[in-house]
Amino acid sequence: MARWPKGDGNTIILPPHHDCKIGEDEIVASFHTHPNTGSDFLQEPSETDKRAVRDDLDLKGDNYVGEFVISQDAIYLIAPNGETRELTDTDTYFEE
Ligand SMILES: [Zn+2]
Repeated sequence: MARWPKGDGNTIILPPHHDCKIGEDEIVASFHTHPNTGSDFLQEPSETDKRAVRDDLDLKGDNYVGEFVISQDAIYLIAPNGETRELTDTDTYFEE
């Protein structure tokens, strides 16, 4: 598992990932967090988040499930086509 460079604020910087691979490793999922820094902080994946996944032609590998967004309240998955769904409550997930 490779850790990506920390983004600058809300931006995520991916290393080169041509054909959905980093080096020899196939990318099967990616994630970033939405820390809760206030009640009006966006928890759901933003339009920018969705677009970034959907429009990244190198994130279309056969085994790539999408980008997980881990917020304070819930975990979301952005599919490669940009569709987003809420998977589970973050509390529930980390208690298991
Ligand atoms: Zn985001």
